[in-house]
Amino acid sequence: MNPFNYSRSSAAAGAIQSLVKEPQAHLLAGGTNLIDLIKMGVVAPERLVDINPLPLKSVEKTAAGLHIGALATNSEVADHPLVLQDYPLLSLAINAGASPQLRNMATVGGNMMQRTRCNYFFDTAMPCNKRVPGSGCGALEGYNRMHALFGASDHCIAVNPSDMNIAMVALGAVVHVRGPKGERTIPFGEFHRLPGDHPEKDNTLERTELITAVELPASAAAFRNHSHYLKVRDRSSYAFALVSVAAALDMDGTTIKGARLAMGGVAHKPWRLHEPEAFLKGKPATEATFRQAAEIAMQGAKAYRYNKFKLTLAPNAILLALQTASA
Ligand code: SF4
Repeated sequence: MNPFNYSRSSAAAGAIQSLVKEPQAHLLAGGTNLIDLIKMGVVAPERLVDINPLPLKSVEKTAAGLHIGALATNSEVADHPLVLQDYPLLSLAINAGASPQLRNMATVGGNMMQRTRCNYFFDTAMPCNKRVPGSGCGALEGYNRMHALFGASDHCIAVNPSDMNIAMVALGAVVHVRGPKGERTIPFGEFHRLPGDHPEKDNTLERTELITAVELPASAAAFRNHSHYLKVRDRSSYAFALVSVAAALDMDGTTIKGARLAMGGVAHKPWRLHEPEAFLKGKPATEATFRQAAEIAMQGAKAYRYNKFKLTLAPNAILLALQTASA
């Protein structure tokens, strides 16, 4: 492990200035992913700027919806009464991830910034365009069982590993960020990106920007009574998703007034299912409807040598998630 400098920042402006002054500085929050990456030699920051003293932990109701500070821990968010009351999908998704110990340390902002769990990304002896741009992709012809079905490129077929992100995108969250030029917002669905020619870039955050909060819109609370997060994985806890589905329905009796759907474990970004959502609107909540929605969701899917099973697993997971949400 390379030696690095460590400093603490108690003001957002100071943390941002550190990023501006030192191109190799990294922000440190819960550290549940970054410290692993440093120990394994995947990243080698010259400075860690500990942002835990920043006042970014609050979870509170606003006129727009629910404001969640970027430094609120995953446990605090999942257990928060306002989240459980109005956005239970988020709570279910967070609790499906990692372990209680990790959720107690990991923050909302850190969860959004976590890197892929592609084995070739972590193995510094292997080629990986995400770790070393231009070096190749070990997974393309390698053991690609965990990899993408949608939106991949010849440069990278990795998936976003977060459960929280899948619920956030389904609920239409908005990300608040601050940088040297001031503040801006990014729709959650545009925060993470597809790999294209630059898989080294996971998201659209500028290097000198800081995530300050995520806001859940008040309108998403309409889906509170019919939501489900289904995660299919190799063991019942502490495993990343092979496929996951965040499903939330706004129901009028047995008729679907509106739907929110997203998949995890299938793309480089949380994969929102806009077309199935539009299809479900106004339809009866039946198995036939849900099967058709799943079929629409799978259009354009492309599997690789070892992840072909996901072509069957994913639509089955969508069907089961929708049936459970509608019940
Ligand atoms: Fe690297 Fe992406 Fe290929 Fe994995 S899939 S080896 S992260 S370039």
